[in-house]
Amino acid sequence: MNIKQNHSLKKYNTFNIEAKADYFVELSSEADVFSLINSDILKNNEILIIGGGCNILFVNDFKGLVVKVANKGIEKIKEDKENVYLRVAAGEDWDSFVKYCVNNNYYGAENLSLIPGCVGSCVVQNIGAYGVELKNVFYELTAYDIFSGDKTVFDKQKCEFGYRKSIFKNKTFSKYLIFSVVFKLSKKQNFVLDYGNIKQEIEKLSGSKLNVKILRDVVCKIRNSKLPDITQIGSAGSFFKNPFVSFDKFFEIKKKYPEIVAYKIKDNLYKLSAAWMVDKCGWKGKRFGDAGVYEKQALVIVNYGNATGKEIYNLSKEIQKSVFEKFNIQLQPEVIII
Ligand SMILES: Cc1cc2nc3c(=O)[nH]c(=O)nc-3n(C[C@H](O)[C@H](O)[C@H](O)COP(=O)(O)OP(=O)(O)OC[C@H]3O[C@@H](n4cnc5c(N)ncnc54)[C@H](O)[C@@H]3O)c2cc1C
Repeated sequence: MNIKQNHSLKKYNTFNIEAKADYFVELSSEADVFSLINSDILKNNEILIIGGGCNILFVNDFKGLVVKVANKGIEKIKEDKENVYLRVAAGEDWDSFVKYCVNNNYYGAENLSLIPGCVGSCVVQNIGAYGVELKNVFYELTAYDIFSGDKTVFDKQKCEFGYRKSIFKNKTFSKYLIFSVVFKLSKKQNFVLDYGNIKQEIEKLSGSKLNVKILRDVVCKIRNSKLPDITQIGSAGSFFKNPFVSFDKFFEIKKKYPEIVAYKIKDNLYKLSAAWMVDKCGWKGKRFGDAGVYEKQALVIVNYGNATGKEIYNLSKEIQKSVFEKFNIQLQPEVIII
């Protein structure tokens, strides 16, 4: 275990923000985790655990220790007639895992193709796309309490999954280090096709019989057409969460804007498209220096080059303000602001 001091975080966050951590360590094995747990550095420092840094905005330097989880590996631990159970290291790249499932005809994760980040953090965020959330394929995980060293297994219920959140995002932020995750994939096809423009894209492939590889390709194609390539443009994906409102609030907006994009979740609960609201406020494609709103997706704030964390943050505040003024709705960031 090699603890570095005054370490640049620029290559550890996909916004490409220049920020420094007082201390930085990368953990690749269980032995590294134990070395950290037994070291004095935890006693006197604030801790931030990271994976790929795809959902973090550094507004300031981090006064403490950044712990990057970088263990790797995918292992089949059991299977029965219906399902296969895979243990995946928390530092494994999420999309490499999805690709592994698709190549082996293990079903359930394909709609979550191409989401950047590591497996452990994808659990923290309960990532979702095209009608599927990570919790749909989650079985259990193993985490270490980095202060006591206790090892705990969390099943689905204990994780308290919600919309882009889990117990690890709320109550236990940087207390538990997720070390490995067990996923339960199906051996039978049961595709979710009703969300976004998946069906329309599949219809264009007339003649081909749908299979999991085709579905992954379709999801990747749609995502590539809408989202920035993070190797070229800094971003953390959707900056804000979609807000949930009552029927009355939905109806009030719909009266004024009949074209509103919203989804009925249940009676008296509607999910509004934050992207539509931000777009309606005129932000799509706006640029201020190197900070801007992506021209193809209004929910994505981007760093075109050398924007600072503060510039990105200030832009997000302006967007929040204008959405509030127009719709009387307070958007909440999905991105973790440090
Ligand atoms: C272009 C783009 C597109 C995106 N599209 C989507 C999308 O479609 N759907 C979606 O849901 N998200 C999306 N995201 C957001 C992002 O990919 C996810 O939130 C992903 O889970 C972040 O993974 P990460 O490893 O980079 O997490 P990080 O940003 O490194 O960390 C996220 C959180 O997890 C915690 N954490 C990280 N590792 C651990 C660990 N091992 N143990 C405990 N806590 C940990 C961190 O402290 C932090 O709170 C997108 C992002 C980008 C840049």
